[in-house]
This record gives sequence, C-alpha cells and structure tokens, in this order.
Amino acid sequence: MSEYALVVKNLRKSYGGVTAVDGISFAIRRGTIFCLVGPNGAGKTTTMEIIEGLKAPDSGEIRLLDMALPSELARAKQLMGIQLQTTSLFERLKVGEIVNLFRSFYDRPVPANQLLSSVSLDSKANQMVAELSGGQQQRLAVALALVNDPEILFLDEPTAGLDPQARHEVWRLVQSIKHNGKTVFLTTHYMDEAERLSDEVAIIDHGKIIAHDAPRNLVARLNKANVIEFSIGEDVAPECFSRLRDVEAINIVGRNVVLYTADIKACMLGLLNLARELGIDLMDMQFRNPSLEDVFLELTGRMLRD
Ligand code: ATP
Repeated sequence: MSEYALVVKNLRKSYGGVTAVDGISFAIRRGTIFCLVGPNGAGKTTTMEIIEGLKAPDSGEIRLLDMALPSELARAKQLMGIQLQTTSLFERLKVGEIVNLFRSFYDRPVPANQLLSSVSLDSKANQMVAELSGGQQQRLAVALALVNDPEILFLDEPTAGLDPQARHEVWRLVQSIKHNGKTVFLTTHYMDEAERLSDEVAIIDHGKIIAHDAPRNLVARLNKANVIEFSIGEDVAPECFSRLRDVEAINIVGRNVVLYTADIKACMLGLLNLARELGIDLMDMQFRNPSLEDVFLELTGRMLRD
C-alpha cells in the first residue's frame, strides 16, 4: 500500500484558449490535510473536479488510493467523499431526511445519528435545511460527504462566505476528520485557513504550483523576522519608504506597504520620523509575524487577501 492517498503527475487542462491547469504535480500522504491555495481563477476547482472524475484532463496521471484514475473511478468513488456546494442542498427537506436520502445511495452507510453528531447537528434533524445558518449548512454538506465513511474527503472552499465563528467551527470539524484517520484535500483562497489547517500546502497561481511544503517551512524559508504593514493615501509616492534604514525588504502593492525588519523598534522610529518629516498619514497599521500571505507576496508581487 502506498504511503500516499493521492499522487498527481503533470496534470493539464485547457478550456479553449485558457490554460486552467498547467502541468501540476503533487502527492498527499495518507491521514494528512493537504490544501491547494490560490487566488480566484488559479485552477483549484478544475484540479479538484478532475480528480473527482467530474472533468476529463487533457493529460496527466492520477493515482488515488492505489487506483488509476479515471479508469478505476467507479471503485475509487466508494472511498471518496465529495462535499457538494450548499446551494445544491435540497432546502425543502429536513436535515434528517436529506441525510437518509444520501444514506440510501450506499450499501453500508454511517448511521444517521452518528453522522449528525460528528458535525454537531444532532439537535437539528427535524429542521428544514433552509432554516440552518450558513455554517450549519456547510457542516451538513460535510456530513453528507462522510456518509459512505470515505478514506479521502474533498472539500472545495469549505468556508467561503462564512463568518469567523462559523469558519472556526468548520476548521475544528476538518481537524476532527483528520484525527479519525482520514485524508483531507481542500481548496481555499484564504491563506490563514491554509496555514492553520494543513500539514502541507501547495500554492497555485495561473494553473501552476509555485510553492509546496509544510506552511511553517514555507514561512521559515522567507527568513523574515517581523512585519509592519500599513496603507498610504493616493498622494504619497511609495518610493519614499526606500529611504528607511533597519528594513530588510519592502513590498508595495497599490496603496499597501509591507516592511520586513529584524529590529521593529528602530524601524518604527525611522518610519514615524519619515512620516512626520513628509507630513504623511500611515493608516491601518499592523504588526505581525510573517505568514503564508508574505510567501505569496514574495513569489508573485501580489497580495491574495480580499
Ligand atoms: P475560484 O476560486 O474562483 O473558484 P479556481 O482557482 O477554482 O477559482 P478554476 O475555477 O479552476 O479556478 O478556473 C481556472 C481557470 O479556468 C479560470 O480562468 C476560469 O475562468 C477557467 N474556467 C474554469 N471553468 C471553465 C469552463 N467550464 N469553461 C471555460 N473556462 C473555465
């Protein structure tokens, strides 16, 4: 048995003139959480849908749980859990009814009460799907993907549009699924989500994987100690910040300035003096540790954040 739940080699897919997936390769170890993170249109959904058998690749190799795809898709499907978009849930059904509908598709489904309690929805069995909050609907969608007790779970943007509390609940759920021994493949365009959840993350941009490792390794490789971030008005020339000392690197994206420094005190003093001298306002100032967001910025010169 391979140590990898999924191995993808040189996957390609174009739609007419648009190359959505441009020769990507990656592997996911069994029992881990792997995250494909990237901006809108980077190719995340296309990659996931090819592996799920919903789209045909132009070329490439896929092995899922030691089976070749798409040729062994029917057998592989028994061991895959695929989360549907919440918009495709049947809103007029009760939670218990939709769970039993999905259970009826399999020979040996997980008991309904066990499924609902695994996503903390036991008390909602008699409620209509339409009456659930966004976070509860998302957790129901995850429960439905777990109905066949799959070995690998596919989650496409599982927290898109959720408020912070609901996102944290979904994160806890994803971690508990991993602790039950399953492999999780998820896509997101939230860098903090990828950083928090994944054992390994692959950053995808324009259909290519531009970085792949454990999040802490990617951040450590940046070799940056502290981040000072702020925004400036339309009338400020960003070049003025290149005069600052005690700054290791500067990234300027639009009106947003990101400074990396080993000496936060000296850097701040210099920055405040410069701001006073030039009469400029420094807005929305934040101090933080380097993150995956900085890895993306370093690699692409763009920020992923919304
Ligand atoms: P998002 O986060 O917005 O869902 P994504 O990273 O999942 O983005 P994809 O949906 O895989 O990206 O899209 C990758 C590229 O392929 C985009 O340029 C998109 O416009 C294009 N694309 C996706 N599906 C189709 C399609 N059915 N026909 C034509 N082009 C498509």
